[in-house]
Amino acid sequence: MWLRVDCRLNNRYCGRCCYKTEMPLSSEDIKRIEDLGYPRDHFLIWRKGLPRLRNTDGHCVFLDVTSGKCTIYPHRPEGCRLYPLIYMRARGVMVDPLCPKANSIPISDVRRLAPVLIKLIRKLEEEYCVKLL
Ligand code: SF4
Ligand code: SF4
Repeated sequence: MWLRVDCRLNNRYCGRCCYKTEMPLSSEDIKRIEDLGYPRDHFLIWRKGLPRLRNTDGHCVFLDVTSGKCTIYPHRPEGCRLYPLIYMRARGVMVDPLCPKANSIPISDVRRLAPVLIKLIRKLEEEYCVKLL
């Protein structure tokens, strides 16, 4: 269901997309992370009408900077599971060229998961009364 990316680069995990993240959080994401025992204020910040992952020292609070790994990987937000698929108003669903593994994403995965990303964006629109598409 989600996008599988081999994020290993030079004997560690890349983690680039976890710096200065603006990843929005669905209500399911928030509940799943709270159920791990993290208080909402620890990981959530509101920006541009959406709850988003909080950064500390320029990176997501859940990034282990030493290893480059996500410390809540099995519970990470839906948007993180779909990255490097992104939605741009002018271009629709595309692979983010900022991801070093962008060229390794098969077009079949993009086609398969584009509707999943659009569904997630529609859910965020409904939950938070914002226009994203
Ligand atoms: S930027 Fe790409 S390769 Fe790097 S951690 Fe994110 S998805 Fe993986
Ligand atoms: S939740 Fe995990 S995968 Fe998502 S931005 Fe944070 S560290 Fe990266």
